[in-house]
Amino acid sequence: MPAIQAWFPTLVYYAPLGRRSAPTLNRQLLAECRHLRDTDENGRRWCAQNYPGGYTSYGSVANLHEVSPTFAELERRILRHVGRYVAALDLDMVGRELAMTDCWVNMMPRHAVHSLHLHPLSLISGTYYLATPPGSAAIKFEDPRVDRFMARPPVRDPERARTRPIVRYPAKAGHVVLFESWLRHEVPASATAAERISISFNYGWF
Ligand code: FE
Repeated sequence: MPAIQAWFPTLVYYAPLGRRSAPTLNRQLLAECRHLRDTDENGRRWCAQNYPGGYTSYGSVANLHEVSPTFAELERRILRHVGRYVAALDLDMVGRELAMTDCWVNMMPRHAVHSLHLHPLSLISGTYYLATPPGSAAIKFEDPRVDRFMARPPVRDPERARTRPIVRYPAKAGHVVLFESWLRHEVPASATAAERISISFNYGWF
């Protein structure tokens, strides 16, 4: 046995939604996202307070999978990935049901940011990337032990895989990222004027 082994892994899942791209579904999702922003006055008011510069339906319509057949179709396609992820986490789901509880859209133009946060009251969270023009910011995950490192010097090489304090995943249209809801993450400002559009969701178990 090696003298030193790594334990307590944090699993992040990242994969294309399907083997083939889904241009029709994505086109329809995009149209619905834009329509929602144009018509969702409550949401735009919420964003003016909580999401400066950008639009999210998080504060107004956070059950898109229940109100739109297009988003319900996306939910159906995401489920396969969530199943794989839950299996990799070794969670015992016998007699337990996994269900999408929230689903909302995020439209981030230049300067919009989503500061460090986690998703309380959920088991698994994730994002599907819909429009990611070149220069779109990556999603950043933070080492969940960072608040225990108060007396520790920084690591020698923050890019070294096993000890890096921050992990980035590119925002790539057509890709799904999944993580456990307690894992803190953020989206910094993009280096592009074009909009970065994504759909985020939470899963709970019952
Ligand atoms: Fe998030």
